[in-house]
Amino acid sequence: MTDCGFNTALLHGVDDKNPFGATQVPIYQSSAFRHKCAEDLENIFTNKAMGFSYTRINNPTVEAFEKRITVLEGGLGSVACASGMAALFNALMNILQSGDEVVAAAGLYGGTVELFEDLEAFGIQTKYVKENVPESYEALITDKTRLIFAETIGNPKLDVTDIEEVARVAHRHGLPFIVDNTVATPYLVKPLLLGADIVVNSSSKYINGNSDAISGILTDGGKFKWDAERYPGLKPYKKFGPMAYIAKLRNGLFRNTGACLSPQNAFLNNLGLETLGLRMERQCANALELAVFLDSLDAGVTVNYPGLEKSPYHELAKRQLHGKYGAIVTLRTGSKERAFRIINALKLPYILSNIGDTKTLVIHPASTIAVHLSTEDQIQSGVYEDLIRISVGIEDIEDLKQDFKNAIEGEK
Ligand SMILES: *Cc1c(COP(=O)(O)O)cnc(C)c1O
Repeated sequence: MTDCGFNTALLHGVDDKNPFGATQVPIYQSSAFRHKCAEDLENIFTNKAMGFSYTRINNPTVEAFEKRITVLEGGLGSVACASGMAALFNALMNILQSGDEVVAAAGLYGGTVELFEDLEAFGIQTKYVKENVPESYEALITDKTRLIFAETIGNPKLDVTDIEEVARVAHRHGLPFIVDNTVATPYLVKPLLLGADIVVNSSSKYINGNSDAISGILTDGGKFKWDAERYPGLKPYKKFGPMAYIAKLRNGLFRNTGACLSPQNAFLNNLGLETLGLRMERQCANALELAVFLDSLDAGVTVNYPGLEKSPYHELAKRQLHGKYGAIVTLRTGSKERAFRIINALKLPYILSNIGDTKTLVIHPASTIAVHLSTEDQIQSGVYEDLIRISVGIEDIEDLKQDFKNAIEGEK
């Protein structure tokens, strides 16, 4: 299944061996799984046999979701979590300890910036690059650095990370590169194939697609060589070879923080996931057309979208994301008041804090998702008082263009 296209791999890449020939993986709504004898359960708990024991550790419906994402991201194994934030926390803390440093991109999702702040209480410091270019990451690496972190497409800064080059920098210093691929999704790029070591997706967004379940998932490429001195926690898991990182997580932090995904939500993800390729195709096309259209209006609005040639990330995005640019567009409107007036004048988009729905969504980040960040951190994250973020949906593009034109021109 490695040589077929994205949608074929998505639909046929995992053989779940469903009972009764069901075409969807059933919801195994069971907290625990019974076994024939004590020895069988002992073998599962001591990692001598594969099997299910307790849904906080694993579950067949959840595992079916994990296997699908592993195929789509081109990884070795995945762990699904209750939210994107839980997946990020687990991905990071599986290898970090007190005294360690992280080097991170600056245009990150606000929740991730806050998570890095929370980690300071545990003796973990994060340094942010000023400009998202490979040299900036290298300049911040010290002997305490233990990982490099970036988003494929920053939310909402819309900067694009040169994954291949940043991975090269990371590996030159013996560091793993962790990438949040939420905004791009594996449909646009598979960071593991470009050299990243671990990929995290907030599957609440495009992967689920219908905004009916919160979840996150992390996928390990299995290629990083964990140095026992720098990553002492991984030492006992060396025997798992390339699965060491995932084995440590599932036998440790993931299990012990109770970060598991519910079977019901895994089912909704498996269902939504089937149309990821179709939705992304439409959403990226709509976003590009809307961005070009809004950019052509003479209405005092500045459009930011990697698909526009004027974006400093256009060439990189074109190469790395295979000619598609994601479905998030941002507008600078001149003032907070005007941003609010435009948002309130729009008829189709929902005003809410989410991305990746089938419906078009709008938000004023500075007063909502980024409100807890300092002004300096907001600007680092590409958030301004007058900024509107649009998550472009699958509506008919002419309707979207008309709605935005009316709202923007009516509020000149
Ligand atoms: C939404 C989002 C998250 C957090 O995911 P949740 O599922 O809401 O916890 C992390 N990173 C990015 C880029 C996001 O857009």
